[in-house]
Amino acid sequence: MSIKANLEAVKESFVNPAGQLIAVSKTKPLDDLKEAYAAGVRDFGENKVQEIQTKQPEMPADTRWHMIGHLQSNKIKYIAPFVHLIHGVDSFKLLKEIDKQGKKIDRIIPVLIQMHIAEEESKFGFDRAELDEMLSAAEFAALTHVQIEGLMGMATFTEDESQIRKEFRSLKTLFEELKSRSLPSFVSLKELSMGMSGDYLIAQEEGSTMVRVGSAIFGGRG
Ligand SMILES: *Cc1c(COP(=O)(O)O)cnc(C)c1O
Repeated sequence: MSIKANLEAVKESFVNPAGQLIAVSKTKPLDDLKEAYAAGVRDFGENKVQEIQTKQPEMPADTRWHMIGHLQSNKIKYIAPFVHLIHGVDSFKLLKEIDKQGKKIDRIIPVLIQMHIAEEESKFGFDRAELDEMLSAAEFAALTHVQIEGLMGMATFTEDESQIRKEFRSLKTLFEELKSRSLPSFVSLKELSMGMSGDYLIAQEEGSTMVRVGSAIFGGRG
């Protein structure tokens, strides 16, 4: 199937028709991104700063770049001027660094806080205690150049649907709980980024507003 046909199939399957689709193009050649762009995609997800840097100048200016991977502090500056949304903010230290880079270039940088919801140890993200600690810190309230638009999470890589559902549900519950708290005005909590090729339908059923789909659109990454 072509990228265009894959895209249509993915969108037609959505249980939340208002859900946003981020086309995850990591490792894929520019021609694939252009094909997806021609089919109407504007939101692309990448997980390596260097790859975004090489692809970004080659794509039309209205392409929206989503950084979905683990981001190293020393590389923020390369994407800070144009990145549309950083999904993987997995530590307070990283959030403060993003704020600092935003200040330098006078741009408020949109981010999501990545929560650790999976059973696996290896996945990045805040746990509940770390999140609460950050939210109550004076340094947090003093941030000026980030906009926290919501939360992101990745479920355990498993065939067990009930496990995946349980993890997504826990993130949605936290999301709703945070919404009812009084937080600084730079916290807007609109987006819940959860769901990939294997689990985006479950994620949407559990309240995802944004899915990050790669292989179902572009094919496997080998
Ligand atoms: C690679 C990746 C995806 C997309 O994965 P697919 O299974 O190819 O859809 C989504 N989110 C993150 C954080 C990723 O690294």
